[in-house]
Amino acid sequence: MALNEKQNNSVPDSHPRYQSLKFRHKIIDGMKNLVVAEAGLIAHGRGECFDYILGEKTTKTARSAIKAAIAALLLAEKPVISVNGNVAALVPNELVTLSKLLNIPLEINLFYHKEGRIKAIEDVLTKAGAADIKGINEDKMIELEGLESSRRKVELIAKADIIMVPLEDGDRTEALKKLNKKVIAVDLNPLSRTSLWADITIVDNIVRVIPEMIKKAKELKKLDKKQLEEIIKNYNNKLNIQNTLDLIIEYINKQKEKALEDVKL
Ligand code: ATP
Repeated sequence: MALNEKQNNSVPDSHPRYQSLKFRHKIIDGMKNLVVAEAGLIAHGRGECFDYILGEKTTKTARSAIKAAIAALLLAEKPVISVNGNVAALVPNELVTLSKLLNIPLEINLFYHKEGRIKAIEDVLTKAGAADIKGINEDKMIELEGLESSRRKVELIAKADIIMVPLEDGDRTEALKKLNKKVIAVDLNPLSRTSLWADITIVDNIVRVIPEMIKKAKELKKLDKKQLEEIIKNYNNKLNIQNTLDLIIEYINKQKEKALEDVKL
């Protein structure tokens, strides 16, 4: 989605923060269309902050987690991708492409309910080409144990073996883990409860993660079961998070040197 005219005047394509501002405006537009909750703006800001200290790029540790995530999704029997407002506002087309490529259903699952929000998200996903969106019909839903928020109401998630939860809150991840579900998280904060609870944590921006997952899915679909299992066997999530933290430290140290050089100029 292009920036509107006024924003375009103030933010040219060459602006060093163009990408970041473009996605910020998608979130703002999403809020105006009911897709994004007010709190989603704050969650996005928290994400932007972590993105900054990761150098706003997909790190090698994120790539390892993406590879493991695709292998796990290809091996899963009943995988589900959970969708919230921010994800629907930021990457609807890419999400639908990934869901079709891996044949994994999309299920809308929201922390903040408001009249018309589910419909607004359903419309965005339908426009992006999604056919059978789950999490819409209350009659088909059951309640997950151990959760107070409206996220407890689920459809396919109840029976899923693996759930991909982009931009998740820790309570739900914890509840899913207690129900013995495998969880794949996408979260820019490597220290969030979600990141620490998940089985596979992709510490990267969802806007880069989904396109990268599409590429990886095309590649890994050619592998057999044994080769996919080998990828999972060689992946260690705790170690990967620690390595991500090391990358942040390295990046900050480089920026520290750069800041001192700039002062000298
Ligand atoms: P937790 O409950 O897991 O400790 P939290 O309270 O921060 O974490 P929320 O605010 O519900 O949980 O979740 C938002 C999370 O999503 C934040 O950790 C934020 O860094 C992350 N986030 C926000 N925008 C993006 C994005 N575009 N890509 C990836 N992660 C994002």
